This record gives sequence, C-alpha cells and structure tokens, in this order.
Amino acid sequence: MQRITVLGATGSIGVSTLDVVARHPGRYSVYALSAHSRVEELAAQCVQFRPARAVVGTAAAADRLAALLRAAGVKTEVEWGEQALCSIASAAETDSVMAAIVGAAGLAPTLAAARAGKKVLLANKEALVMSGQLFMDAVHASGAVLLPIDSEHNAIFQSMPQFGGKMPEVRDASAGIAKILLTASGGPFLTRDVATLDAVTPEQACKHPNWSMGRKISVDSATMMNKGLEVIEAHWLFGAPADRIEVVIHPQSVIHSMVSYTDGSVLAQLGNPDMRTPIAHALAYPERIASGVAQLDLTQMAGLHFHQPDFERFPCLQLAFDALRAGGTAPALLNAANEVAVQAFLDLKIGFRQIDRVIAHVVDTLPHGDAHSIEAVMAQDAAARAAAEACVAGLAK
Ligand code: NAD
Ligand code: MG
Repeated sequence: MQRITVLGATGSIGVSTLDVVARHPGRYSVYALSAHSRVEELAAQCVQFRPARAVVGTAAAADRLAALLRAAGVKTEVEWGEQALCSIASAAETDSVMAAIVGAAGLAPTLAAARAGKKVLLANKEALVMSGQLFMDAVHASGAVLLPIDSEHNAIFQSMPQFGGKMPEVRDASAGIAKILLTASGGPFLTRDVATLDAVTPEQACKHPNWSMGRKISVDSATMMNKGLEVIEAHWLFGAPADRIEVVIHPQSVIHSMVSYTDGSVLAQLGNPDMRTPIAHALAYPERIASGVAQLDLTQMAGLHFHQPDFERFPCLQLAFDALRAGGTAPALLNAANEVAVQAFLDLKIGFRQIDRVIAHVVDTLPHGDAHSIEAVMAQDAAARAAAEACVAGLAK
C-alpha cells in the first residue's frame, strides 16, 4: 500500500490524481489532502478518501472544514497554514507526495517533501523554476525520487536512456543525447492576428484547445510562458543546457515531447491529452496501471504537425530562455513577475500584451542575485512581486 499526500487536491491536477487513486483502492491510500479555499470540495474528498489529515489556507477555512467533517462523521484532523503543509509533505506516515499547488506557494511544502526523501510527483513547476539548484541538491542529498508530472517532462523521462536503472544527464557526452525536443501546442492564440491580442479576455485566454487546466497555467499557455517555465524545468530535471532544449510547436498535443539522440534516433511518448496518463505513470513507476484514459487511436488522427515557435508573437518564451541563461535568481524574478502579471490580467487590471511588459520590466530593472539559499530566493521573489505590482499599477492608470 502506497500512502499519498496530495498538495492542491482540489485543483485540476489534484482532482485527476484522486481519480486515478480511486481506481486502485488496494494499491494506494490517502494520508493527507490540502486545498486553499475550496472547503466544500475538500470536505467531499475527505468523505470519499478518509485521509488522516487535511490542510487549508486559513483558520476560518479550517473551522468551516472541521464543521463539515463533524457533520459527516469523518475523523480527519484539520490544520491550516504553511507549517502544516510542510508537515503533511514530510510526515513519516506518507510515502509519496503529489506537489500540485499552483505557483510559489507550493515551494516550501514541495521542498519539505524532497528534503524528507519522499517520492515527489512534481506538477508544481514554479517551485523548480524558482530554486532549481537548491531543489535538485535537496533531492540528491535525501535520496528522494523525483518524478515529473508535467506531460512534456513525463514524456521526456519516459524517452530518456536508463543505464543500470540510472538516468544520465543530457549534458553527459556518454548519454548520446543531442537535444530535448519540448513540444508545445501554442495555446489558443497560435494563429490569431497579433494586432488583436491586446483585446483578448481572460475567458478566451483560458480556453485551451487541447487541455483543461487551472486558470493560471491556462494563461501561461496562451502567452507561452508555460513553455518557458518548462524549458527551465527541463534544464533542472534532465541536466540540459539551454541550447540543447528546442521548443517545437505541435498543435495536436499527441506527442508530448521527444529526446533526439546523436545516432539520429528520436524517441517520443504519445497519448491522448489527459493528465491522468503522466499521473498514473508517476504513481506506479516503474510499473504501469490503468488511468482511465482511452487508448490513442492513431488512425483517427487527421495529421500531426510541427513547426518552430514565433518568438515575436510569444515574447514570454524568449524572456524565459534569457532568464535561464542569466542564471542565479533571474528565473525566480521571472516567475514572481509572471504570477503577479497573470493575476492582474485575470483581474482585468492589465491587457494580455502587458503581461510580458511587466515581466520584462521586472527582470530588466531588478538586480539578479545568487540563488544560494531559499531565503535569498524568497527575498528576490518578494522584491519582484513588489516591482511587478508597481508596474501593474502604473499600467492600469
Ligand atoms: P489549479 O488552479 O486547478 O489548482 C491549484 C491548487 O493549489 C488548488 O488545490 C488550490 O487550492 C491550491 N492553492 C492555490 N493557491 C494556494 C496557496 N496560496 N496555498 C496553498 N494552496 C494553494 O491548478 P492546476 O492546473 O491543478 O495546476 C497545479 C500545478 O500543476 C501548477 O504548478 C501547474 O503549473 C502544474 N501543472 C498543471 C497541469 C494541468 O493540466 N492542470 C499540467 C502540468 C502542470
Ligand atoms: Mg506541460
């Protein structure tokens, strides 16, 4: 029996995770669940999965959850706040942690799971973008097993060589890897007239052609910052230098990414665009379990297309490559500015094309530091948020 903590249980990834878990009652048990504010949904999950512990964002939310659980006769212990999140991520009673909180809020508990040597199922890419070296150091020091949930990175993981059960780094010459080919759908605005992008609404930006996801990552997909964050994520997960990661637009989202080898081979992972496939892969790794996803029927595909990304249409993609090359805390600045700008766009304070302007302003004006400690990273995160808020306020006038 594998005991699981799901951080961000009420989100898109959290719900998909519990869907897979529910298909295998003899194999997985839920130790703990967390949610920020969707208390009713979390209560329903507690009734179904009977976790020992549940964590929410505030004392008021905890009171509401406790009352709902009392009424339902469920004995789950209710807690709140970041300390409690770190505690359910690192407790001796849990084996695996699904890190599916969105944004920088997920960093502390995800890192706590890594430090505690857990099997970490990483959906929360922002945590790795902010603190890549520190995070990977923690994984190596504790012997944690880090498995990517992001569909592209899960596909790359499945397409990487294994030497005696160990995965080499892309930068190791002996691995024979030429490049990582990171596929991108291009999102809802791939072919829209660029001149009309200023007028798009949050609803249009969140309407992804292939995937159903939370609102923040949906906007990131529309700006292609999501792919930018994934480039940085791939750098850390696979030891890949920036110039060996190539973004390839593939609008159908059937190939989820590829590894190109020096002998001319290209290995890819294919599947229907449903996150339950990478979730099931990581949950059961190295075994395979049913995920509820239909088998891919290639004969029903109209065609698979590939082309290069347009960096002028998607300036966020360039900003992310630049931050990766700059190193240090530049990716943390990029991530924080992006979180503020995306929220401002969702709140109708700025237009879609102002998202990249806010990020560029923050990354260009704030000094980049050394990412030698979590405190240093969090200080840069806070400075970037303040600068981005000020920039948003200026633009919103
Ligand atoms: P979502 O918005 O649907 O869910 C986010 C979850 O995080 C919710 O459970 C929410 O309660 C919790 N949360 C939000 N703010 C919080 C805070 N301040 N403190 C604690 N918890 C908080 O997001 P999602 O689409 O499920 O994405 C989650 C993560 O997975 C993101 O990092 C995203 O980039 C990544 N991811 C998602 C997908 C996808 O298909 N949805 C694919 C790849 C990667
Ligand atoms: Mg992805």
